[in-house]
Amino acid sequence: AGDTALIAALIAAAHDTITTHRDELSELDRAIGDGDHGHNMARGFDAVAAAADEITALPFGKALAKAGTTLVMKVGGASGPLYGSALMAAGKVRDEAPTTLAEVVELLDAAVDAVKKRGKSDVGAKTMLDVLVPVADALRAGPAEPLGTARESAAAALEATRDMVATKGRAAFLGERSAGHLDPGARSSTLLIDAVSAVLE
Ligand code: ADP
Ligand code: MG
Ligand code: MG
Repeated sequence: AGDTALIAALIAAAHDTITTHRDELSELDRAIGDGDHGHNMARGFDAVAAAADEITALPFGKALAKAGTTLVMKVGGASGPLYGSALMAAGKVRDEAPTTLAEVVELLDAAVDAVKKRGKSDVGAKTMLDVLVPVADALRAGPAEPLGTARESAAAALEATRDMVATKGRAAFLGERSAGHLDPGARSSTLLIDAVSAVLE
């Protein structure tokens, strides 16, 4: 399969950024959740990295799907099934790696739809969707520099979760007190978008 090197680089970059930011993610989750987001994500991406030989041997779409099922199986928290469904849905779009911006947006849209469905949620609930949807929309506009646009829109969207009141996930239990803190899943989405952008650079 011609995408082996790309898949290997994506796995390594995702694993590396999640491992590096594990404590930061858990710290964010300690403020408005149960403090395990870094642990959950690291557990999931450790498992994906451990299966890298098997995953990189697959066609691109099947590799995404396999990484997704690995996250679903290995992560106990909400984020595992959500990111897992996102990757599984994106992997179903087509077997070949995307080669155009429009094709990347197609994968992102499939991922977003899966998170919405699985999480019974949408933008504005102070979740990962508040980063993933704005980034998909920014890329849909066909920017001249997609990678920079992806990073900038993710960073701005993450910051915008600070003032939001959570209505989904554990943070929703805090009601108005969830405001004033970044959403941990929005932060992990930003990290993953930055990691993918760096690989595609
Ligand atoms: P748990 O809440 O089970 O401990 P994590 O801490 O790993 O799981 O993940 C929490 C993150 O998951 C939140 O910060 C939020 O971004 C995301 N999340 C939680 N519930 C939902 C949902 N219903 N829809 C979309 N994202 C969600
Ligand atoms: Mg948590
Ligand atoms: Mg938890």
